[in-house]
Amino acid sequence: MAYVVEPPKVVALPIAGSSDLFPVRRFYTCGGNYKQRPGDPEGPRPIMLKPADGVVPGGGDIPYPLGTQWLDHEVEMIFAIHKGGANITRERALDHVFGYGIMFDMVRHDFLNELRKRVRPQDICKAFTGGSPCTAIQPVSKIGHIKSGAIWMTLNGVEKQRADISDLIWDVAECIVQLSKLDPLEPGDLVSTGTPAEPSPVKKGDKLHGHVDGIGDLYCTVV
Ligand code: MN
Repeated sequence: MAYVVEPPKVVALPIAGSSDLFPVRRFYTCGGNYKQRPGDPEGPRPIMLKPADGVVPGGGDIPYPLGTQWLDHEVEMIFAIHKGGANITRERALDHVFGYGIMFDMVRHDFLNELRKRVRPQDICKAFTGGSPCTAIQPVSKIGHIKSGAIWMTLNGVEKQRADISDLIWDVAECIVQLSKLDPLEPGDLVSTGTPAEPSPVKKGDKLHGHVDGIGDLYCTVV
């Protein structure tokens, strides 16, 4: 038996301070998750998926996507799952976390506005080549768990977003509890935790710098 096309490459994030890699299976992203920017303040946080093949390991150059005129940056803390499970309890949730990183959740805002207006699925807003630049994963064994500390980003040196990780509505443990109620989490899953106010548009040539205390920095250029 042979594949009729070349199988897709495994997308993987580097592990900081190591030559090992974290293979990406599924990439969940939580929305409206900062107290200052809840969107819908009641009920569960919106959960979306980003395709693994949109991940840009380590950041760097990210291509401006086809077909859009309005691309936003959303700086987010992410975490990596190394132990799967369904219906994970809050008490055990953090045992499932291998490590933490930073992502720019790039969003085609023009598509988002249009599809929201028409009450249509919004996947294509977040699913494109270069849509998820991420840092290396910092293992829990090295940095511990991230429960507070500043998250911020600058666009061409000007600060655009800032909050504290302690302002998350669903903290990391709660994201795991809620996601694992809907489908089993598996080793290789990534989860992003949402973005602070207020994402803004980027254009070709812009330089993005994201930071989370205790994790590090993510640098990208839109090309
Ligand atoms: Mn986001």
